[in-house]
Amino acid sequence: NMAPIPSTMTAIRIPHTGGPEVLSQDTVPLPTLKEGEILVRNALAGVNFIDTYFRTGLYPVPPSHFPLTLGREAAGTIAAVHPSVSDLKEGDRVVFMGTVGAYANYSAVPAAQAVRVPDALSLDKAAAVWLQGLTAWTFVREAGEVKSGEWVLVHAAAGGVGGLLVQMLAAVGARVIATAGSDEKCQVARRYGAGWVLNSRREDLADEVLRITQGHGVDVVFDGVGKATFDFDLIVAARKARVLSFGNASGAVPPVDILRLGAKNIKLARPVVNNYVATREELETYGKELLDMVTAGKVQVPIHKIYDLADSASAHRDLEGRKTVGKLLIKTE
Ligand code: NDP
Repeated sequence: NMAPIPSTMTAIRIPHTGGPEVLSQDTVPLPTLKEGEILVRNALAGVNFIDTYFRTGLYPVPPSHFPLTLGREAAGTIAAVHPSVSDLKEGDRVVFMGTVGAYANYSAVPAAQAVRVPDALSLDKAAAVWLQGLTAWTFVREAGEVKSGEWVLVHAAAGGVGGLLVQMLAAVGARVIATAGSDEKCQVARRYGAGWVLNSRREDLADEVLRITQGHGVDVVFDGVGKATFDFDLIVAARKARVLSFGNASGAVPPVDILRLGAKNIKLARPVVNNYVATREELETYGKELLDMVTAGKVQVPIHKIYDLADSASAHRDLEGRKTVGKLLIKTE
């Protein structure tokens, strides 16, 4: 009862780096399966800020990889499995992330990077929460080791990762101060459970954080904004704080003089989600915890918009233009 597998498909590729206009809708052959791989008929691909880094060249890719199919996560249904794969089968609903080219009708995915979606969960929600949810959850647990009662600060708290961070941090009992780029976004962050919200465009932001924490500062900073906020993070960090700089939405943080950290014994980390879910056991453990939270309704997964594959460039423009709240998805079937 599965649709027959066609010989060609539509993929969104870039011939070279550039602005959103380089995204090209191409007809390409279906990927062929290598050992250990499954072929997934993608229902929805997730849009992540990292997709824009590959597009602009901030994260360089070898010239031989062009034209490059964008997209690092999707949810869909298995259309075929390589004979070497035994634990997944045709018809299974799965979600995956990795170096996979997900802005396409089909992706060839290492079975080790795919996880079954529970029956109770829609593919929309699975695609919307997977990469950003694993990021937020592993960063709360491993990079932040956040404890109940600690002061934490989350930047871009109405965004994809930021919104999930606020909800998870509130759930573990942290005292969450959230920043966001507009008053409307601040209201969103408050609904996610932030106790204090600050419009990041105001001038006296650091004073406000120190006032709220009665001079203590924040024990953990979650910063996906990067260049624009890094110095601020060191100012508002408490003694012995963990500063987690994990993204470049405003540009890459320039090299840091580590002597600056000594003033408050700050631990600075630059975590990457993949390195917390590198083994099958880690992926399954964190993946199950995440999907359980979503299925139980403990974590909301707001979807900003579902874009047509042909309209992927608009998704990039909206994300880079700070116009979005929650997750951007691309309909890939
Ligand atoms: P978001 O949905 O959070 O979108 C980015 C947000 O950043 C914007 O909405 C905006 O919110 C804020 N922002 C601040 N300054 C700028 C700017 N100059 N240009 C654009 N946006 C700006 O995206 P994601 O959830 O996909 O990603 C958030 C961050 O997390 C990114 O830096 C991403 O690279 C990083 N990330 C890192 C991972 C890792 O493993 N290290 C994994 C996943 C994501 P506002 O208007 O409120 O300021």
